[in-house]
Amino acid sequence: MTKRKPETLAAQALGWVDESSGAIVPPLHPSASYLRAEDGSYPGGHSYTRDQNPTYDQTEALLAELEGGEQALLFASGMAAASALLDALEPGAHLVAPSEMYWTIRLWLERLAADGRIALDFAPAGDLDALRAAVVKGRTRLVWIETPSNPLCLVSDIAASAEIAHAAGALLAADGTLATPALTRPLALGADLVMHSATKQLNGHTDVLAGALVTREDTALWDRIRTDRGYRGAVPGPFETWLLLRGMRTLFLRVRQSAASALRIAESLQAHPEIVEVHYPGLPDAPGHAIAARQMEGGFGPLVSFRARGGEARARRLTGALSLFHTASSLGGVESLVEHRASVEGAGTAVPEDLLRLSVGIEDAGDLLDDLRQALDATSTPT
Ligand code: PLP
Repeated sequence: MTKRKPETLAAQALGWVDESSGAIVPPLHPSASYLRAEDGSYPGGHSYTRDQNPTYDQTEALLAELEGGEQALLFASGMAAASALLDALEPGAHLVAPSEMYWTIRLWLERLAADGRIALDFAPAGDLDALRAAVVKGRTRLVWIETPSNPLCLVSDIAASAEIAHAAGALLAADGTLATPALTRPLALGADLVMHSATKQLNGHTDVLAGALVTREDTALWDRIRTDRGYRGAVPGPFETWLLLRGMRTLFLRVRQSAASALRIAESLQAHPEIVEVHYPGLPDAPGHAIAARQMEGGFGPLVSFRARGGEARARRLTGALSLFHTASSLGGVESLVEHRASVEGAGTAVPEDLLRLSVGIEDAGDLLDDLRQALDATSTPT
């Protein structure tokens, strides 16, 4: 049989049919515990939901398939997934991470480094020479990238980063949250592990907190991560997992629609006289555009960040003047959001204080553009 396309596999949640009922929709398995036989075995293949659950099985199998990985593991949040990987490394392991990256993971890395649990060096996101200089052959254990990055939409060359990491004897882990496997498949480009905040576009409806790791191969490190997940219990609830699986069935449609609207919005903002700067990897003059165009297929993601004339005060007034874009954290949902990132990140942030981050949903792009235009008009001050 010809191999099915990812769109087909996602829409049908791998086409699994529940044998006990014939249900064609993935069933929800809320049971925390499973029957055990006299001989101590588990006839259904599951023992306890902290270790595994049939609803996890199907969701993890779909994600692994979409990423082209051997296995996936779900976690209670993206942060739980990232820390599961970090905690599975040997104490004192050397990591190289991008200086511009999702803020809470950066803070977590710094905390681990301050506590002596890892050794940490930063290299500017996407700067391959700096990455080459930061890795130490035989010492560096993990190179972390995030592409595109949140919120500056910086692009890292996955294949080149993998080459640098591997030459040093390190693994490459990619935070694929902003791209999702609908736009980029880091494992096919050489990454060893992919991490997701499934809270974002994988679920897509801003009603689930979840995370995931996907591995190219079932290694000793992966075995450790899998075992430790059972010890720590940072697993999502079965209902959240079921919602996530339902969300993933429409992944491709949502992601492509958001990306197409995001590009239109980025282009329109770039042409607006009151806009100082637009960050979007789909813009031909964006740094990293050529790399993004090579390693992303189907669009450049839902995040557009921009700076308008008038500084931080204007940025904050803009959030109040927008009506379709709700002012709220998070990204990757069907509804569009706006956020003043610098004030969320606080002291030490590299994000300009006049920058607003848009997460573009699946509303009509014309409506979203109208909302942005009216907000820019309403907050414009005569010069
Ligand atoms: N990675 C990226 C790029 C994110 O944007 C986020 C959350 O915003 C995370 C990781 C953390 O995910 P979670 O909020 O699900 O813990």
